[in-house]
Order: sequence, then structure tokens, then C-alpha cells
Amino acid sequence: MRSSNPFGTCAYCGSRIMWLRTKAGKNMPVDPEMISYRRPEAGKKAAEKIVTQAGEVICADRVDNALAEGVGYISHFATCIKAEKNKKRR
Ligand SMILES: [Zn+2]
Repeated sequence: MRSSNPFGTCAYCGSRIMWLRTKAGKNMPVDPEMISYRRPEAGKKAAEKIVTQAGEVICADRVDNALAEGVGYISHFATCIKAEKNKKRR
């Protein structure tokens, strides 16, 4: 039997992460800290990949609560230092 504890540890950097199930049915590692996000205007590129509480994966920017469109979690792949290094060949 699998435990339903969504918390885990990143295999690359050892950070505490949380597993979220996306609408697509995939488990995605995210930073456990909930953040406020806002999607950018059309044509602009967002800085973060965020998983919303509904399990949607979106590109948005991290903003202050006052400007927020919603709350979600930042993909750990985006913040993981080691994973970032792996992406840029070794
Ligand atoms: Zn990591």
C-alpha cells in the first residue's frame, strides 16, 4: 500500500517537494510553498511554470497577493538548481 503523503525529497538537490496530480493525470513535483500568480498579457512570456490547485499547468508570473489571479505551486523543475544544470548539458 502506498502512503498518501504528498511530500517527498528531490532526488537532485534534496529539497523538500510536494507531489501534485495534474489534470493530465501526471504527478508533478512542486515546491511546497503556495504562491500567488498572474498570467502575463498576450505576447509576453511568463517566468514560471505553475500548477494550480485545480491541477492545471500554466505559465505565469509570481506576483504580490494584491495582483494575484489565483494561487498555485511552482514546478520544482523550475526552481531546482541541480535539474537546471542537468538541462544545460552536465
Ligand atoms: Zn531539486
